Amino acid sequence: AKSQGRNTYGFYTEDLTRSASRRLELETRLRRALANGEFVLYYQPVKAVADGRLLGAEALVRWLPPGEPMVSPADFIPIAEETGLIVPLGEWVLRTACAQLREWLDAGYPAGSVAVNLSVEQIRRSDMETLLRDVLAETALPAHRLELEITESSLMEHGDQAETLLSALKALGVGLAIDDFGTGYSSLAYLKRFSIDKLKIDRSFVKDLADDRNDLAIAAAIVAVARALDISVQAEGVETEAQLGLLHELGCGVFQGYLCSPPLPADAFRERFLAPGRT
Ligand code: C2E
Ligand code: CA
Ligand code: CA
Ligand code: CA
Repeated sequence: AKSQGRNTYGFYTEDLTRSASRRLELETRLRRALANGEFVLYYQPVKAVADGRLLGAEALVRWLPPGEPMVSPADFIPIAEETGLIVPLGEWVLRTACAQLREWLDAGYPAGSVAVNLSVEQIRRSDMETLLRDVLAETALPAHRLELEITESSLMEHGDQAETLLSALKALGVGLAIDDFGTGYSSLAYLKRFSIDKLKIDRSFVKDLADDRNDLAIAAAIVAVARALDISVQAEGVETEAQLGLLHELGCGVFQGYLCSPPLPADAFRERFLAPGRT
């Protein structure tokens, strides 16, 4: 489709989420969607700030109801979390993303690593450690090629539980990134405690980086903290060269954003970033 690269979503879920009965309807539809294979992963390139080298991709889920516009995860992830559907959906996301990276690596592409978003609800309700072990084994993927993104706010909500789980995940050798960093109530102590590998500066601080001194100060502080703790920093939502330049000056090493590309379907990602000029 022509619009495949754009993040244009339909309007109808807005109506669906408006009332309780519509929520229930959405839950039923989501359940069916999972059974019918209506979910698809898009991949957004993750690049080095210094030289634009491709480091990997973040996998982002979309729902494509047949004959209807694509639905944003912001509209259905919360419902999937409430209903527990996040467990099978999250399992599908993890398995699909790892299998995709395996396919790219087998084809000889320097695809780097893949980042997968984990919901704490999914962690709470399932045996993540076993699942991860299984998926890595099935796809013969070295653990360091998988990065798990967990939001700062959810991590803080489930402190003790999260700590046990994260140390188990670390033991497997996967990368751990804190998503939306700076938006939750942070305790810097947990960064060391959880052996975090990466902080992702939330888009809200990147957006006005060039015009807002406060946002620039916050981004600078995040980079400073990360450096002091030997954690890498990734900016999300980078849309302009000006933002990228400032991030470079601050010492932020990694970025993603529309400046480079929106999330793309797997084939489009391969054509554009892994095998340019080939089909
Ligand atoms: P997130 O993990 O913070 O993902 C970043 C969001 O920013 C994505 O929205 C991405 O498309 C968008 N984005 C990337 N670059 C830019 C940019 O330059 N400008 C702007 N305006 N936006 C940009 P998306 O794909 O709609 O995902 C929304 C949220 O849904 C994600 O936020 C994440 O929290 C959640 N999500 C997506 N996929 C999954 C998944 O597989 N599992 C879980 N648990 N959550 C997911
Ligand atoms: Ca993310
Ligand atoms: Ca984020
Ligand atoms: Ca976010």
